[in-house]
Amino acid sequence: MKITYENKVLSKNDRIAAEVRRHLTARGIFAVNLIGSPGSGKTSLVERTAAWCHGRVAAAALTGDQATCHDADRIERSGIPAIQITTGNECHLNAQRILDCVARDELWDIELLLIENVGNLICPAAYDLGEASKVAILSVPEGDDKPLKYPGLFKRADLMVISKIDLLGSNDFEADRAEANAREVAPHIEVVRLSCRTGEGLEGWTRWLASQLVQTAPLTARQA
Ligand code: MG
Ligand code: ZN
Repeated sequence: MKITYENKVLSKNDRIAAEVRRHLTARGIFAVNLIGSPGSGKTSLVERTAAWCHGRVAAAALTGDQATCHDADRIERSGIPAIQITTGNECHLNAQRILDCVARDELWDIELLLIENVGNLICPAAYDLGEASKVAILSVPEGDDKPLKYPGLFKRADLMVISKIDLLGSNDFEADRAEANAREVAPHIEVVRLSCRTGEGLEGWTRWLASQLVQTAPLTARQA
């Protein structure tokens, strides 16, 4: 088995992602890759998370969009350093983009790295960025059948965030059905329901984050 694994030909992105993962793991940084459609509330979740981190967890964010620095500006106003990655014609982040950032000052002394991917449910799921976890964000206005239509993301995600639950009742979205659909394609997936607008359910998200952070300690500390 070991030989098969070692002989596996990793794609260029996978090799770079492995390098990113080594950097982050050695420094005890928990990196989470947030993936969801445009407008699903990824930036709002990063802002809310930044507020929770204040005085608790040293965090920074990388945020990807085709163009503009709007999201990095928003996130910085919520109190953590943010680096905007503009991807131009690309509709996803890749591991090289993250590797280009890991040595920057903003990312040096942190425990939590929030990576907001480009808004897109399809190819961001296929590109390993060297993160510890992928989180799928599904908002109420999008409909509860997205896990069935775009299973690739949900299969690879550890957690699904159902966002904008303050809008439940405004359309046919049923949170229980969304959860069942996600578990149909990804039986392992954990689910948190929240609204960044009202703050409802955010403690489920921060509890999940806190549990991941506890498990992520620098190699040197673990070896000691
Ligand atoms: Mg955004
Ligand atoms: Zn893409």
